[in-house]
Amino acid sequence: MKRQHDPLRLDVAAFTDDGAQLSGRWPGASLTRLAEGQSPPQDVALPEVVWAAQGERRAVTAGEAELWLALQVQAPVWLTCQRCLQPYEVPLALERRLRFVRGEAQAEALDAESEDDVLALSRSLDLRELVEDELLLALPIVPRHEVCPQPLPMAVEADPLPEGEAERPNPFAVLQGLKRAKPGDGR
Ligand SMILES: [Zn+2]
Repeated sequence: MKRQHDPLRLDVAAFTDDGAQLSGRWPGASLTRLAEGQSPPQDVALPEVVWAAQGERRAVTAGEAELWLALQVQAPVWLTCQRCLQPYEVPLALERRLRFVRGEAQAEALDAESEDDVLALSRSLDLRELVEDELLLALPIVPRHEVCPQPLPMAVEADPLPEGEAERPNPFAVLQGLKRAKPGDGR
């Protein structure tokens, strides 16, 4: 059995203070929650997750400096097209800007009024878990080719699904429907 990867712990306060940068690549199979929902063709390995993080301490005219973490992630994922039921590769690429503040209460208040994600500053942040959370949230709810590569058994091009047949939801849809869990919520 493969050894579990250690979490990648980040001291966010120090990282943002220094304006530090980190980047890396993770084997696709090491993000287990993301891997579980994928359906690659036989003998195809899950693609690598390529990521970069940049800390920023932004001085403001009044009050405490703002602490920001910018994330860039590229992770092709294999999903099953819900129209033709063939596996296909979805090129997930995301950029996120996360702001960190001291204290849960302030984080919640700011998160509600801000377009950016605001998280409570904790002593350490598991970067791998954060990246995986963001990727899970970025998955399409009903994965489908824009144009299926093979003709379908029935002529259903105008309406991709036969009437009365419900679309099979992506297993991640449930997760996406839930309130976004914030890393740093003390989980
Ligand atoms: Zn398809």
